[in-house]
Amino acid sequence: MADKDCIFCKIVEGKIPSEKVYEDDKFLAFLDIMPANKGHTLIIPKEHYMVFEDMPKELLKEYSLLLQKISKVVFETLKADGYNIQQNNYPAGGQVVPHVHFHIIPRFSDDGFTFDWEKKKYEDEEMQEYAEKIKKGF
Ligand code: AMP
Ligand code: ZN
Repeated sequence: MADKDCIFCKIVEGKIPSEKVYEDDKFLAFLDIMPANKGHTLIIPKEHYMVFEDMPKELLKEYSLLLQKISKVVFETLKADGYNIQQNNYPAGGQVVPHVHFHIIPRFSDDGFTFDWEKKKYEDEEMQEYAEKIKKGF
């Protein structure tokens, strides 16, 4: 079901324009209008899911295979030196558009782009404590 306020649903419905690079019955890939590098591509499911964990498993399998395929195509056709796959969830995770999407960012040796976050440090037993918390969630 489309969300009437969602910009990516509007792109799927053709209500706002996009520069499409791939489309099938379930997925759409188009260029990001504010690219980190030229050729920066977004891949979305046509159905509206807000965050990654909302996606049904079967669709996710197809999504991940398509993500691999489009990454390779972007990498090869743009003669990139590398690429990043990014996926943001919730506003605190940097998600601006609340419709699941993966970013494929072609990278070039001289692009000057960094993911240089400040490195945090665990104190004492903290690292094991974090691992225990996460392991309990399975
Ligand atoms: P995120 O921060 O992960 O939610 O990323 C949303 C991305 O969508 C940003 O990189 C935007 O530049 C991009 N974006 C927003 N509106 C459009 C649009 N109409 N067409 C293409 N890309 C868009
Ligand atoms: Zn949507």
